[in-house]
Amino acid sequence: MEYRYMGKTGLQLSVLSFGSWVSFHKQINDSVADELMGMAYENGVNFFDNAEVYALGESENMMGRVLKKKNWDRTSYIVSSKAFWGWRGKSNKPNQTGLSRKHLTEACHEALQRLQLNYLDLYFCHRPDKGTPITEVVWTMHNLVQQGKILYWGTSEWSGVEIMEAHRVAQQYGLIGPAMEQPQYNLLERNKMENEFLMIFKTVGMGTTVWSPLASGLLSGKYNEGIPEGSRFAIKGFDWLKDRWMKENFLEKVKMLNELANNLGITIAQLSIAWCLKNPDVTTAILGASRKEQLAENLKSLDAKEKLDAGVMQQIEDIVQTKPVLPEY
Ligand code: NDP
Repeated sequence: MEYRYMGKTGLQLSVLSFGSWVSFHKQINDSVADELMGMAYENGVNFFDNAEVYALGESENMMGRVLKKKNWDRTSYIVSSKAFWGWRGKSNKPNQTGLSRKHLTEACHEALQRLQLNYLDLYFCHRPDKGTPITEVVWTMHNLVQQGKILYWGTSEWSGVEIMEAHRVAQQYGLIGPAMEQPQYNLLERNKMENEFLMIFKTVGMGTTVWSPLASGLLSGKYNEGIPEGSRFAIKGFDWLKDRWMKENFLEKVKMLNELANNLGITIAQLSIAWCLKNPDVTTAILGASRKEQLAENLKSLDAKEKLDAGVMQQIEDIVQTKPVLPEY
């Protein structure tokens, strides 16, 4: 395993990490979660990602039970949660969602209870909240750090401007600012990581825990001949995700990438994950898996990275044609 410092912090994250969205509670039970987390940890993964909204709190409950049973040294792993959507689903009332001081604080307490932990290593604002002043968010996160309930705080899917506004407030009051962002990043979704955030990486610094490195599985090639039973795009309620990715022009690119990967003697999933890791601004790519075989395959992406030399990276660019066009100065 390779470890990278998270932005300008002293915290080291494994470049491959493991997340629980969709899979925990919806697709897998405690015993599979136990196996998957065990396999990840034994392979050097030290970061496990979660959120209050995943399976409406049940994903954190499941991860908490697994962590308790594993009884790993608490200093050897990193756990996150994220607040914004709440966990009560349709019965969410005002103040049970968003980024107010009240919800961020209560969501943190509830996540700690579900995960059976004394502190969260990473705590994310899962989305920006147009209704809460950024000053309130920054003060709340700073205070949670001071109280020892969280160690680092960050954002997810915030714009570059919103992140810099949080830094401005933090600097104005001498508070602890956001240390990391969790954006989507994969071969088909690149603008934030390769354009919008570039100045932030260069100036205040920012770690990134990127999500959906396989575009929800599309970049494993599993959807090339249709939607397999039991796969994510076949799950009830995930039509929005299927519609986002099951597009002819994406599938054509995936088929070409598949061929390129085969020629290199690796799988397209490994090629796609390894490609994310080639970007030094990525601290960690969060893997998702509903089966052991998937995780075993994906954990080998680090070896596959060695095969992505400059020539191969260019071949990938020629296929995907998704590189953001930057202004020339
Ligand atoms: P991926 O894009 O890697 O998709 C993972 C899914 O793809 C698996 O659950 C599985 O789905 C399928 N898959 C994975 N590997 C293989 C393989 N080798 N062969 C075939 N199918 C495969 O990541 P996720 O979208 O799951 O995101 C990873 C994590 O990022 C999440 O768990 C979560 O922690 C975080 N995240 C954060 C978000 C945010 O807003 N901050 C949003 C989304 C995710 P299946 O078997 O069901 O088809």
